[in-house]
Formats: sequence, C-alpha cells, structure tokens
Amino acid sequence: MTDDAAPICLARPLPGPDDTRAGCAAARGVDGRPLHAAALKFFWGPMDCGKSTMALQMNYNHARQGRRGLVTTRIDRSLGPQVTTRIGLAHSAIEVTDGLDLRDLVRDAWAEGFRVDYLICDEASFYDLEHIEQMAELVDNYDVDVYAFGLATDFRSCLFPAARRLFELADSVARIQVEVLCWCGREGLLNARVVGGRVVREGEQVVIGDTANSAQVRYQVLCRRHYRAGDLGGR
Ligand SMILES: [Zn+2]
Repeated sequence: MTDDAAPICLARPLPGPDDTRAGCAAARGVDGRPLHAAALKFFWGPMDCGKSTMALQMNYNHARQGRRGLVTTRIDRSLGPQVTTRIGLAHSAIEVTDGLDLRDLVRDAWAEGFRVDYLICDEASFYDLEHIEQMAELVDNYDVDVYAFGLATDFRSCLFPAARRLFELADSVARIQVEVLCWCGREGLLNARVVGGRVVREGEQVVIGDTANSAQVRYQVLCRRHYRAGDLGGR
C-alpha cells in the first residue's frame, strides 16, 4: 500500500470494505468511553533478563484469548527473522528493516483479512525513531496494542534513541523483574561491551556480539559499581 492510500481503520467494530476513514475513534460503550483503550507499553531490562521470553509469553497469552497479533524483531541473536530466547523458545517474526512502516504492516495484514489486535515488538531499542512514532499512531488511531521490549541503555550506559522515545511516549514503562546478577551478586544493571577481555566505552552503538566468553566481542551484565570500575570479576 502506498503512502497516499487512505489508511483502513482497524478499530472495532471493524469497518466494511468501503470504509476509508483516515483513522477513527475506538468503538464506544453506552457511557461514551472506549470499549478498549489500546496502549503502548515498554518493557525494558539489561541483556539476559528474559525480555524475549516475556515477549513470547505475552504473545501466547493474548493468542490464547483469541486475539491476533504480529511479532516483529530487529537484530535478534539468531540474526534471522525470528525471536529466539536464551532458554530455547523461538517464534517466527517480521524483521523490522530501515524502510519498514509498521502502519503499513498492519494495514497490509488487514487487507489480507488478518485482523491485528496487537504488535509484539522485540529488540525495540534497535528500531528507528520513526518506528516508535508509528507505534504510537497504531495505538492512537488504529486501536492496536503495542508491546515493546528492549534494552534501555547501550554499552556506554547511554539510552538508545528508540528507548528514550519509548520512555517519552509509552503509556506505561516497566522494568522487567527477572533479575540478572553481576558476578559480585548485586543486581545487574548495565551492559558492558568486552573486547579482548577489557570493558570498552567507545565505538559504534550497535555491534553484534554474544554473551559467550569465547566471543571476540561479547557483552556482560554488570552492576553499576563494577561497570564503572570496568571490573569483570574473575570470569
Ligand atoms: Zn558487581
């Protein structure tokens, strides 16, 4: 669908094929309040805290109740169009490329007869700023829930631009409660990039690595104290 085509309203009740209103209000109950108030929610935490696991669990929970959604990701650890988790779960996903418009994704699904109630957006801190704006529009104009999962900060302990925008725009923000521990036993907070056995603080914001000790570039979650000291423990 091209940009100048009129977007199809996805708010319930679903419009007929001739309904080409540009966005529309959500269906309303007798008191005039929206029957369903869609929301943009951002779940964040350091690496290894189970974000992708929670994303897939949420997808499962919603699907079980008859809701239909799409799962998107960017730079998943598998480097393929799927969400994979460290504990072995996997789910096919749509890769969010530079030019992908999340609104088109939803409109196209609708055009193919696939109702979209929600989006699960994994690795959202790697998305572009435009994608975050599109998420907000999907919530506000299309009544689609958007659940975004991602890191808050990069290896320099600075917010990813997309994460910052999510903090600014999201209806709710939640730190994922599964704690990742630093080697010292304190709660892990920051993602250190380790090259040649040392914590580095300069470089590209996104460099693919692993958490395996043998990787050339790897990431290790540290508490703030040991992140600041660059202390990787005896590992
Ligand atoms: Zn520590």
